[in-house]
Amino acid sequence: MQSRFPREMIESRAPGMWRYREAIPIPFDVEPVSFGEGFTPLLPIDFDGRRVLVKQEQLFPSGSYKDRGASVLVTHIKRLGISHVVEDSSGNAGAAVAAYCAAAGISCDIYVPGSTSEGKLVQVLASGAGLHKIPGNREDTAKAVLEAAQHHYYASHVWSSFFFHGTKTFAFEVCEQLGWTAPDAVILPVGNGTLMLGAAIGFRELQSAGIIQTLPRLIGVQAANCAPLAAAIQENQENGGMRKVDIMPTAAEGIAIGEPLRGLSIIEAIRDTGGEIITVTETEILNSLRIMCRRGFYIEPTSAAAVAGVFKLAKDKTLDNNTVVSVFTGHGLKAGTKIANLLNS
Ligand SMILES: *Cc1c(COP(=O)(O)O)cnc(C)c1O
Repeated sequence: MQSRFPREMIESRAPGMWRYREAIPIPFDVEPVSFGEGFTPLLPIDFDGRRVLVKQEQLFPSGSYKDRGASVLVTHIKRLGISHVVEDSSGNAGAAVAAYCAAAGISCDIYVPGSTSEGKLVQVLASGAGLHKIPGNREDTAKAVLEAAQHHYYASHVWSSFFFHGTKTFAFEVCEQLGWTAPDAVILPVGNGTLMLGAAIGFRELQSAGIIQTLPRLIGVQAANCAPLAAAIQENQENGGMRKVDIMPTAAEGIAIGEPLRGLSIIEAIRDTGGEIITVTETEILNSLRIMCRRGFYIEPTSAAAVAGVFKLAKDKTLDNNTVVSVFTGHGLKAGTKIANLLNS
């Protein structure tokens, strides 16, 4: 059987996520719907004296790592011959799916919460997609799309396994960029877990293939104002399902998920690696945004939540001498007005 990770072949290919072709369940004769995305820089950045390698996922064509999932999912949908899809999102997945659908000649309708940053809405409209702003929170948007999904293909970035076959390439790239070795810990923002679960799947596949021996500790960061996963881990919930928690608005709109659909899988994936979930306050998010912007990193507020988590963990002695990886998930250009308001507050 052919290896899932033929290293020499991979290294001979263009630097992008599709270089891991053997590990993506799309037949070889299918042309990917692609903008040449992926292989984002893994940049060392200092956080209060701790060096952390930060994957620059804000540099994707649509401005967030969601392009990883959208590229694989829309390639699959195009292959099925589907001409119209619906999708719901806090903004970035919608912007990504809209862009890849535009490239594939597929029409789509995107459902988002009314409070979504304007930059993301403009992206959806500019791609020619239908935009549906739903009053209320992210869960109200999820309900609205289910109605539409009765009659149309639901290109869900949370339900579709193909989306995760895209986001898992995050783990492949991190390992390849570290000379085909695993980091010791990976700190990621988590709401519905499209990056966290993708990373967990990716590192597991690398381990199964014998490329890496141990899994990195997966550490999730949630906004304290919206932290159902942190609450579930703290209460040591096993089988009872996720308890509903009270949520408040957060500047980290991209991870403002009160009822994560794959919550138990996320908790399991994190526990399996000896990881944890930490929470960060709105003040910490704002301070982190300010610090990063002042250093020239223009990231959206959701990304600053992960940064706040990294600052918190910078003091954690158990990470001494560890290779620690984190991520900038979304570009500041998506949320200019929000960033201006936050920085002036
Ligand atoms: C989607 C997204 C995340 C992670 O959200 P999940 O709900 O866990 O998939 C983090 N940051 C940004 C900017 C995002 O768009």
